[in-house]
Amino acid sequence: MDRLLQNVQYLKGVGPQRSKLLAKMNIHSIFDLLWHFPRTYIDRSVLQPTHQLVTGDQAAIIGTVLTTRSSRSRRGMTIISAAIESQGITIQAVWFNQPFMTDILKNGRKIWLSGKVRNVLPPEIHVSEYEMLESEESVPGIVPVYHTTEGISQKMWRSLLERVLKTYLGDYPEILDQSQRQHYELCTIQEALANIHFPTEGSAYQQARRRLAFEELLLFQLRLRSLAVEDNKLTGLVHKEKDDLVQKIRGGLSYQLTPAQERVIAEIFNDMESPWIMNRLLQGDVGAGKTVVAALAMVKAVSSGYQAAFMVPTEILALQHGQALTNILYGSGVKLELLTGSTSAAERSRILELTHRGEIDILVGTHALIQEGVAFKKLGLAVIDEQHRFGVRQRAALLAKGDHPDTLIMTATPIPRTLALTAYGNLEMSVIDQLPPGRIPVKTKSLPYKARLQAYNFVKQEIIKGRQAYVVCPLVEESENVDLQAAVNLHDELRTGIFKEYEIGLLHGRLRSDEKEEIMNRFKVGDIKVLVTTTVVEVGVDIANASVMLIEHAERFGLSQLHQLRGRVGRSDLQSYCILLADPHTEESRQRLRAMETSNDGFYLAQQDLIIRGPGDFWGVRQHGLDQLKIADLTKDLQLAEKARQCSREIDPLSLSKYVHARFPMVEGTAMN
Ligand code: ADP
Ligand code: MG
Repeated sequence: MDRLLQNVQYLKGVGPQRSKLLAKMNIHSIFDLLWHFPRTYIDRSVLQPTHQLVTGDQAAIIGTVLTTRSSRSRRGMTIISAAIESQGITIQAVWFNQPFMTDILKNGRKIWLSGKVRNVLPPEIHVSEYEMLESEESVPGIVPVYHTTEGISQKMWRSLLERVLKTYLGDYPEILDQSQRQHYELCTIQEALANIHFPTEGSAYQQARRRLAFEELLLFQLRLRSLAVEDNKLTGLVHKEKDDLVQKIRGGLSYQLTPAQERVIAEIFNDMESPWIMNRLLQGDVGAGKTVVAALAMVKAVSSGYQAAFMVPTEILALQHGQALTNILYGSGVKLELLTGSTSAAERSRILELTHRGEIDILVGTHALIQEGVAFKKLGLAVIDEQHRFGVRQRAALLAKGDHPDTLIMTATPIPRTLALTAYGNLEMSVIDQLPPGRIPVKTKSLPYKARLQAYNFVKQEIIKGRQAYVVCPLVEESENVDLQAAVNLHDELRTGIFKEYEIGLLHGRLRSDEKEEIMNRFKVGDIKVLVTTTVVEVGVDIANASVMLIEHAERFGLSQLHQLRGRVGRSDLQSYCILLADPHTEESRQRLRAMETSNDGFYLAQQDLIIRGPGDFWGVRQHGLDQLKIADLTKDLQLAEKARQCSREIDPLSLSKYVHARFPMVEGTAMN
C-alpha cells in the first residue's frame, strides 16, 4: 500500500515538471494515477472505407497528413483544416478552437481520426477524437483516451499507465475475499484495474467498471462510517420489549405478512435492539404495505417503555392512519391520539398534557407534531411517512422532540434527496420489494383530449360494475386557490353531466378536517362513487374498491407524482385502470406518459425520471462528496450502491483508513443536514 501512495514524481518518465501538471489534475500518487480512468475508448480496428462515407454519420479513418491550414471564423474561432490522404481519397479534417493542432499535424505523418462526416463531395470530417500514429502496424484495437491537460499526450498517459500497472498492480490491496467477490459477482481488483485502462473486449470493460464502481462506493461508505466512528455519534436507545404485545398484534392481523415485510421488520427490530441509533429509510412501492411495518415498530417501542410519534404530510393521511392503527391496536391497551392543524384548542392542550406525562403511547399527526409545545416524556421512535414531502428541517425538528430516538423514514419514491441520503448518510435502507399477493398490475392508458368523452364513459362503466373512481384535477398553478377553482368547476361539470345519477364528492386541501373525514368515510363505505380531488389524495390514501383513476392534464405532473397518484388504485384483487388525459407538447412529457403506460414499478419509474430529467436537475447544487465519485454513477448504480453498503458492514472502517482517505480526502460531515 505504501508504495502506492508514493508521489508520482518518482515514476520513471515523470519528473518534477510533469508531476506539477499531474498535481493540477489532482493526481499526486501512484494510487491516484490508477484511479485516473479513461474518459472513453476508441476502437481503431473499426474503420470506414473512405469511399463509402455518408453525410451525418460518425466515421473513423486512418490516413496521412498532406497539408494543414489555419483560418479564423467571423466569430473569432480558430479553424484548423488538414488535407488527409486515405485510401487514395483526400479528406478535409477540421478542428475547431485548437490552434496548437498546427504543431501536431506535421506533413507526412500518419493519423487516426474519428468524427462526424459533414460532407462527401468532397469529404469533410469534423474531428472529435484523433491520434498521431507511429506506423500503421503498431495500431492496437481498443485504446483508452484520458482526460488530459496541455503537455501530456494520450500516448504518454498510456505508457504511464502501462508502466504503473506492470510495476504496482501486485501491490494493490484486495479488500474482498473470494467468497465476497462471488457473492457480489465481482472480478478481482487487479483484473478490474488492468481492464479499465486496457480493455480487450466489451465484457471485460463492463466487469471492470462494475468492480471499480463497487469499490468506489464501498470506500465511500467506509469513509462515512469512519467519520461516524470518529464522532462517536451513534449511541442511542435500546428497545427491549417488556411483554409480548408485538407477537399478539402481529398474530391478530387479518392477513399474512409478506416475506419482504418480515425481512424489513427483522432489520428494523435489529436496529432498535442495538445500542446504536437507528436511522433507517424504508422504501417500498405504493401499496407494498409499509404502514403495518411502521405500526409494529411503534408497538415494539411502546412495549419497551417508550413513546412513538408518526408524522405524515396530510391531514387525510393522518386520519386514515389513525383509523388503521386503531384497528390494529384494538384491545391492546396501547393509547393513540391524533394531532393535526385542525385539532381544537381544548383537545390539543389535553393531548399535549397527556403526551408530556407519557400517558399517550403513540401520537399520530401532521406538521402539528413538530410545533412548539409538543413535548414527549420519552420519545423512543419517530416515524416519518412519505418523507419526500418533508424538508430536512422538519425531520430534524421531530427528532429533537426526543433524546436520540430511533428513526424510521418511509417513502415510495426514491426521489433525489433520498438518493442523496442513501449516498451520504449513515442511513440504512430497507426495501419491501414485493407486493401483497393477489395484486393485479394497474392498466394504464394515455388518451388525448379528443377522447375525453370515451375516457369518462369508461369510468362510468366501472361504476356500473359497482366500483368507485377518482378523478384527479390538474395542478394548474402553484396557487392553491386556482387549483381549488379548477376542482370546483370539474366537480360541477361532472355532477350535472355524465355522472348526474351518481353520488359524487369533492375533496381538496381547504376543507375542514371533519369535512375531509366525512367525505373520505363516505367514499370508503361506497356511498360516494366518484371522488373529484386535487392532489391531496396523492399519498397514502387506501380505498380498495376504487378501481379506476382518471387524471386530467396528466402532462403537467412529474413521473413520480403520477405513479404515486396511480397507487391509489390497484389496492385489491380487482383489475384497476388509470387513464391519463393529456395532450403533451414536449418530448419529455411524452416520455413520461409512455413510461407510465409501460411500467408499474416505482423504482424503475423514479430512475426513468432521473434519466428523463437528467442528473443535473437533480443534483443541482454541489453535494458534499458526490462530485468525487469518478466511476460510480448514482443514476445507474443504485443497486450496486446498496450492495456496497451491505458489504461495508463486513469491514472494519478503520482498518483501511489510509486507503479510504487517499480516495476521499475531503468528505465532510455526515448526512441529514
Ligand atoms: P403503502 O406501502 O403504500 O403505505 P399501505 O401500508 O397503505 O401501503 O398498504 C396497502 C394495503 O395493503 C393496506 O390496505 C394494507 O392493509 C394492505 N396490506 C399490507 N400488508 C399486507 C399483506 N401482507 N397482505 C395483504 N394486504 C396487506
Ligand atoms: Mg403509505
